[in-house]
Amino acid sequence: MPAASKFGALPARGKQARPTAFLTIMEGCDKFCTYCVVPYTRGAEISRSWTAILDEARALVDGGVKEITLLGQNVNAWSGEDSRGVMQGMDGLVRALADIPELQRIRYTTSHPNDMGDGLIAAHGDCAKLMPFLHLPVQSGNDRILKAMNRSHDVGSYLRLIDRVRAVRPDIALSGDFIVGFPGETDAEFEDTLRIVDAVGYAQCYSFKYSPRPGTPAADMDGQVPAAVMDERLARLQAAINRHQVAFNSTTVGRRTDILLERKGRYPGQLIGKTPWLQSVHVTAPDHAIGDLIEVDIISAGPNSLAGEYSRRKAA
Ligand code: SF4
Repeated sequence: MPAASKFGALPARGKQARPTAFLTIMEGCDKFCTYCVVPYTRGAEISRSWTAILDEARALVDGGVKEITLLGQNVNAWSGEDSRGVMQGMDGLVRALADIPELQRIRYTTSHPNDMGDGLIAAHGDCAKLMPFLHLPVQSGNDRILKAMNRSHDVGSYLRLIDRVRAVRPDIALSGDFIVGFPGETDAEFEDTLRIVDAVGYAQCYSFKYSPRPGTPAADMDGQVPAAVMDERLARLQAAINRHQVAFNSTTVGRRTDILLERKGRYPGQLIGKTPWLQSVHVTAPDHAIGDLIEVDIISAGPNSLAGEYSRRKAA
């Protein structure tokens, strides 16, 4: 009989070492952004079958996984027939996964703004297992650059999309990708990127200097931006992103929230778990609690992680 603690019984043999898993649901991309090799190297978008995804998800959950992140280059373009032969989009798939009782959390990445359908937006409002985190790259805050990138959305349509997601899930954490120094990007066009970062208030972002990829249209475009200019723009962008990340993390201080304990921390007795908003939380807890969903009080926040105090273990 395993010993019990405030974190529950000690683990049975074979308890999943990591309670989180990735599940690829589609490959490839049809978007042909002018800087990207994926459509050439990975080919057209192909969705895995409904049955294959559900079977793999159930197997992961049977192995102890509590959180699944659905993966694809354009994950929200997924579509396929369900077990009754009815066409479904990502929202239908998410709802079917949410019906697996022991699966606690669902995430997905990476999304394209143009594939963010009404059903998926609605799911963010009414599917409790779909976590309030959305990685939705915009790449630039300037419409001329977005057109040159062949992103097929503009700043206005992107911001309206964000508004619609926030209308159904006001606390959603937003994440993005940015490229600075795309060929021909002027100082003023870069300033527009800083403006969209402020307008959205991202919880976290990835940012990169443009790097030509052989065989892509952008690699042959005029106006390649000097490295020193890109360095300076990236530093300014990252300072803005960090400012918003710190602000977002600060809003969680004093809040009681669930975290899924995923792994050991750097110090003895310390574990790291993730909030619904994908923030890392350091908390004191025994190793055998890895895999537990617990409630913590957030007591402090830094730019990259939070500190929490254990409140109680949640029912599995
Ligand atoms: S950046 Fe993303 S959406 Fe654009 S072509 Fe590459 S994989 Fe597709």
